[in-house]
Amino acid sequence: MSDAERKPVRSIQTPMRLTYHYTAGIATSRFLHGIAEGRILGQRCPVCTKVYVPPRGSCPRCAVATEEEVHVSDRGTILTFAIVRVPSENLDVPLPFACVHVLLDGADVPFFSVVQGCPLDEVRIGMRVAAAWVEPDRLAPTLQSIRWFEPTGEPDVPFDQLREHL
Ligand SMILES: [Zn+2]
Repeated sequence: MSDAERKPVRSIQTPMRLTYHYTAGIATSRFLHGIAEGRILGQRCPVCTKVYVPPRGSCPRCAVATEEEVHVSDRGTILTFAIVRVPSENLDVPLPFACVHVLLDGADVPFFSVVQGCPLDEVRIGMRVAAAWVEPDRLAPTLQSIRWFEPTGEPDVPFDQLREHL
């Protein structure tokens, strides 16, 4: 046995893939069925009145069920963003792109998506954007029904109006 064969193997690299299947639950199922109809549904907390999108069925602050369904706009305001320069299997958009948290009109928590339709150096906190949906015949109960968000050209929302959502 040579010296190289006696050395311990300290690590190996091997490709792996994990597929997860989980039950969406009542609140998320209703949200996803709304997405399949081109609508965004949230749920309002009966105590603090915050609207959660996507809804999870309860308010994490108040520990109560959220049962009141609320229609939320597919327009909103960028709260935060990051420029992505590495590929991701689940985001089919050309690199580089901007990942954003969008505060949809009528919601109290940000919604994660991607911005397209403008140079990256124009993406900014306070920028108004709207969802770019897939064609109606391709709508399905998946967030991939919203391809990305695009600038609307509306005036920016001042930071002071966004502060409480950051
Ligand atoms: Zn609450």
